[in-house]
Amino acid sequence: MQVLVVNAGSSSLKSQLIETDGKVASMKCLAEKVGTDNAFMSVAFAPDFQKTMYNIAGLSVVQCLQKLLEVLGDDPESPISGIDQIDAIGNRIVAGGEYFTKATLIDDEARANLTKCEELAPLHNPTADACIDMMRKLMPNTPQVAVFDTAFHATMPPKAYMYPLPWSYYEDYHIRRYGAHGTSHRYAAQQAANLLGRPLRDLGLITCHLGNGGSITAVNHGKSIDTTMGFTPLEGLMMGTRSGSIDPAIVTYIMRREGKTFDEMDEILNKKSGILGISGLGSDMRDVLKAANNGNERAELAIDMYVYKVQKAIGSYYAIMRRTDAVVMTAGIGENSAELRERIFAGLAHMGMILDKDRNQVEGAIGVNRVISIDDSPIKICVVTTDEEMRIARETDNLVSQQ
Ligand code: ADP
Repeated sequence: MQVLVVNAGSSSLKSQLIETDGKVASMKCLAEKVGTDNAFMSVAFAPDFQKTMYNIAGLSVVQCLQKLLEVLGDDPESPISGIDQIDAIGNRIVAGGEYFTKATLIDDEARANLTKCEELAPLHNPTADACIDMMRKLMPNTPQVAVFDTAFHATMPPKAYMYPLPWSYYEDYHIRRYGAHGTSHRYAAQQAANLLGRPLRDLGLITCHLGNGGSITAVNHGKSIDTTMGFTPLEGLMMGTRSGSIDPAIVTYIMRREGKTFDEMDEILNKKSGILGISGLGSDMRDVLKAANNGNERAELAIDMYVYKVQKAIGSYYAIMRRTDAVVMTAGIGENSAELRERIFAGLAHMGMILDKDRNQVEGAIGVNRVISIDDSPIKICVVTTDEEMRIARETDNLVSQQ
């Protein structure tokens, strides 16, 4: 099945065309800083994925997607000769609230419920919905599926998802923990089960998605029972530019002291904190690691804090699971940084997570799923590559094939 995967963010568009039978991508598209004056969209086709750049200055994310569909239909190098050859569309949706607990075929009822979820992710969901509407008009006979970041966490019990706030906030505004990165955690858990050669339903796993954003999930018998992100992706770990969990009273304190508006405070917590806020250098872990290794004290502190918070989260999930078979590392930092993995697991050996320093090295191993703990480590440590687009394509195929 030819599945077009559409991942539309507030100012970005990622898309792939995936042939799900062979599990291969034949087109990859990326556009960032959409809406600005010097925005470009790259489109690359198999087999060599040579990028062609398109000027998308001033276009919206929806218009950008329209342009991509034109290129897909018209470009002689495109793997399809018209967009009517797209069998299904898989849309990544950030927030599904309590309306969606699994991937869903978008009919009129589902589309109406998607609108109700917009207030839960006001930067992301409305753009994704607008893309869905545009494609429903343009390709009315092509089935569309919504795959939610939150759906995997729908199995969390109330003690994990409720906040100790007045009850009315849950009833009136649906304020509760939803989690995120669900597609990645589910995929990482399944990949780890394959790697360990055991059924997922028999395993207790702690999956760590450590990228620009970061979250850790306790996966018991294949189900998420708790995760570090909450009502929004701001809760939990320290991240590239997000603070993660802090004393909530700090927010009102700063707003009073400095007369900040809600939007300004939102920006401070989401865009100016985390690794960037502490290091003062940037949010890219590679740069901060380099600076720390050159003696920059704030960079070193940022990494120390980052590692400490990851260790605490892994430890707390170890505490709530009846058994832990493996810790699974994935996403940009989790997959690629041997140094950070070494620092994280240096503090966890007493819990039975014992890293093999040679296996942990990355040379020749990037993109390869593998076990990096010593042979008799009571709890295994795995590295798996996340592939969000492939996972969305496969969920879309499953759902559409059942119709
Ligand atoms: P996103 O959440 O935006 O999808 P990614 O999963 O691509 O993010 O992760 C991006 C992060 O991974 C950045 O902080 C980047 O510095 C980090 N990263 C990528 N490669 C390495 C590496 N070799 N060493 C350390 N950090 C890395």
